[in-house]
Amino acid sequence: MDLYEHQARQLFAEHGIAVPRAEVVDSAGAAQGAATRLGGRVVVKAQVKTGGRGKAGGVKTAADPAAAALTARRILGMDIKGHPVRTVMLAEQMDIEAEFYVGYVLDRAAGTFLAIASAEGGMEIEEVAANHPDAVARIPVDPVEGVTDDKAREIAAAAGLPPETAGVLARLWQVLSREDALLVEVNPLVLTTDGRIVALDGKVTLDDNARFRQPRWSAGADDPHADPLEAEAAAKGLNYVKLDGEVGIIGNGAGLVMSTLDVVAGCGARPANFLDIGGGASARVMADGLSVVLSDPDVASVLVNVFGGITACDAVAEGIVQALETVRLTKPLVVRLDGNNAARGRAILDARAHPLVQQSTTMDGAALSAARLADAA
Ligand code: GDP
Ligand code: MN
Repeated sequence: MDLYEHQARQLFAEHGIAVPRAEVVDSAGAAQGAATRLGGRVVVKAQVKTGGRGKAGGVKTAADPAAAALTARRILGMDIKGHPVRTVMLAEQMDIEAEFYVGYVLDRAAGTFLAIASAEGGMEIEEVAANHPDAVARIPVDPVEGVTDDKAREIAAAAGLPPETAGVLARLWQVLSREDALLVEVNPLVLTTDGRIVALDGKVTLDDNARFRQPRWSAGADDPHADPLEAEAAAKGLNYVKLDGEVGIIGNGAGLVMSTLDVVAGCGARPANFLDIGGGASARVMADGLSVVLSDPDVASVLVNVFGGITACDAVAEGIVQALETVRLTKPLVVRLDGNNAARGRAILDARAHPLVQQSTTMDGAALSAARLADAA
């Protein structure tokens, strides 16, 4: 579970990391009052669980409370990468001398935590990491030893950060370990013109397995479907998880869908989602599933992999044919039907003869076709 910036800020403050004074509001009128209490010169920041808010226009400075109200009104109407902005945080404006990046993340491949730090923090950190990897220090952290004062100084020195940042590095580790986080990140951690080290932006991802130990964040504070497609799917009763790839996947049964993801990955493509339509693959469920998967702009091809059991393949095929009446198919669809009444199901799809629909009798063959179609798109 990701936290909002204002929640991350609260955790940082509780662990002794300096943060700007701030208030969260949901209207322009409230923004004006908050800005007044914060001294007038503020930053207005969209509270959405996605990065790159600054580049998207969701982080703006305001010189006085009236300007803060206008800016808040504009940002509150925004949609940042599919996330509607419902609240903004107003923070007292800092005068920045330098921006750094510091964070800890679980490195699953290495089986340990990693400290990541750079003296070139700020909005261009991705470009820095891609073009000047030497400017980003990556240091393993033993989870049992944690970040001692010595270790904190080692990380700061390796990244070329001022020695005064070591205290923040040690405290940030406490945030990770005491709050059950898998990732904590401060970007930017700033040196102000008057010589203070302040955390201006924070990202914290909590370990969902530890939710029971962190009840204050779970209790209604979080929207479990922060991704808009996941929210739409949940509203339709579908078991859908958005992933990063380009092959949309629909199957019946969690185990079959999981193995379909693996087979697609084995063909060198990346799954765009997990979608289990369950046992009753009716026309409506198929139409809902197709419409969710096709509304993902990253999807380049769709693979339907169904093993007919109690729901026979001819019923699934009828479902697909009916779904094609209501959903405009815009991407190639590869269907693999096997199990109960598979031959009848295939005949139904053959008879429909939709130009964008093709069939394969094996899971490997279907995955390979879907991967190639996505690659060609
Ligand atoms: P992000 O784009 O979602 O990571 O949002 P950030 O909170 O990191 O803000 C983006 C950028 O806005 C930062 O890198 C800073 O350069 C700038 N910024 C944020 N807060 C302040 C502030 O108090 N004063 C000044 N001068 N710039 C700020
Ligand atoms: Mn940031």
